[in-house]
Amino acid sequence: LNPKFASKTAFKDASRTYTYHDIASAAYANHLKLEDDFRVEKSTKTKAKTLNGKRIGIYTPHDASFLISLWSTWLSGGIAVPLGITHPEPQLEYFLRNSDTSVILCSKETEEKATKIAKACGAEILPVTPVSSDLKDAEKLRSAIAPLSPAPEDSALILYTSGTTGQPKGVLWKHKALAGQAQAMIESWAWSPKDNILHVLPLYHLHGLINCLITPLSCGAAVTMDQDFKAERVWKQLLSSDKERINVFMAVPTIYVKLLEYYSSHSSSMPSKDEVKNICLSKVRLMVSGSAPLPDVVFRAWEDLTGHKLLERYGMTETGMLLSNPLNGPRIPGTVGHVMPQVKARIVPASEVTLKSASSATEEPRLSFHNLKAKILHKVEEPAAQASQKAVHDAPAGSQMGELQVTGPNMFSGYWNNEKATAESHSDDGWFRTGDTAEVRDGVYRLLGRTSSDIIKSGGYKISALDVERRIQDHPDVAECAVFGIPDVVWGERIVCLARLQPTASSSAKTDPATFQKTIAAFVAETLPAYTAPKEVQIVEEIPKNGMGKVNKKALITEYRSETT
Ligand code: ATP
Ligand code: MG
Repeated sequence: LNPKFASKTAFKDASRTYTYHDIASAAYANHLKLEDDFRVEKSTKTKAKTLNGKRIGIYTPHDASFLISLWSTWLSGGIAVPLGITHPEPQLEYFLRNSDTSVILCSKETEEKATKIAKACGAEILPVTPVSSDLKDAEKLRSAIAPLSPAPEDSALILYTSGTTGQPKGVLWKHKALAGQAQAMIESWAWSPKDNILHVLPLYHLHGLINCLITPLSCGAAVTMDQDFKAERVWKQLLSSDKERINVFMAVPTIYVKLLEYYSSHSSSMPSKDEVKNICLSKVRLMVSGSAPLPDVVFRAWEDLTGHKLLERYGMTETGMLLSNPLNGPRIPGTVGHVMPQVKARIVPASEVTLKSASSATEEPRLSFHNLKAKILHKVEEPAAQASQKAVHDAPAGSQMGELQVTGPNMFSGYWNNEKATAESHSDDGWFRTGDTAEVRDGVYRLLGRTSSDIIKSGGYKISALDVERRIQDHPDVAECAVFGIPDVVWGERIVCLARLQPTASSSAKTDPATFQKTIAAFVAETLPAYTAPKEVQIVEEIPKNGMGKVNKKALITEYRSETT
């Protein structure tokens, strides 16, 4: 608890505003409660490290009770395991069992369900309350808390990956790596105590927890939490005339798409484009996108509406933030910028690397997309042409292309209880293998996608699904798309595109699928090599995504194959 910030706003949720003192005071009160209930040796009066490395599940709504639980876990020496209240029970049980969590902190709202899952997993529950300790004086509170500060080497957190390519993996973070992450973001994006972030993301993923909560709170900024994303509420906050309003916004690409769609379908009741631009440019200093590829068309539409060039960055649950477009300087759509402070990155050409991603190699995709078939409105195939054997597509002159590998001091310490996966995810010389293919030119990185599912091998070429998606999403009739390869005797892999149409799409796009497929193929071939054009285009009502707005290509391919054969 930094005395400079004690009386400053730290956190605002739907019910009230909390100062740093309020949060610290409640965290301390709950730490004492934890200590009373779970003191390992009840006879000792020592206050430190009651939970000493025990895993503590945090199962509260995403409001102040989450933050208070997190802080009290750390004051008690525990390792926090953030959980989502919307996670289905089997998923929660998987997280709790996998992390061997023994205590679940819950709130009044979640107590009943917490009791049920705790019973199933042999854990205990402890309801957390936002009550303050009786240490009203900031200095007294600080002296009580100071000796409980965790050591940099202590483990802080187990965060589960998004589960896009398989079963989510438990990623262990130490306090010093979290502090290093926060510092790197504070430097790169110029966080300051004057900032106030609008937070609409889940707190059980790195993006929402480290980038949008821990980082601002590490430097005295304020967090305005708005759980359950609603485009209407976000627009209200972005356009608010309140004095104590937000000035930073971070989200995943799907959220920007939803905000744009909301604006265009409610434009008659919204401020004019000029007013939106005026307010956003004068009141918001930074808007960031990450966790999934940002389509160029969304970058441009957002700039057109708000005047902001979205800052796209790239990171992973295992590594935190790795690459970022600059705060000051050109933000190039379709790229993820330069390496973040303390990160070293290298590109290992595909021939030198055999990917053996711990989960993806062995496990079946977890997500299943129901009724894809029902949602497929049209399907069109181009007649199979004779594919000639051509040389593998090379990286453009002056650039390197291959697997992105990274190293640095601010990364995870290993997969929880899974030494094999930890070892497999590192090269022989200790670099972390991201499993993503990237290209670098003059220090600027471009992501070509996940090596396992976004690099399509068709007609002897290696084709980035992300590049093809970026192009197709530029077509005025297409709202969103997902591109992938399916096995094909002639092509090796045949490029397929699922497209969701714009409501304003031309009637021929809706009614004449054969012409539409040709239109899309010709549109792709205007800027990309003709062999990257999809051989099949299917119009769907929805592109299935997980909670972080990511498309699980492996599940999509499996589902597509079973629905179309
Ligand atoms: P799992 O590891 O369980 O399969 P996941 O990889 O989606 O799930 P995360 O750690 O949340 O879990 O996501 C990291 C991945 O997200 C990266 O490996 C990358 O593929 C993708 N990603 C993150 N930021 C970007 C970005 N700006 N552009 C493209 N992809 C991104
Ligand atoms: Mg991953």
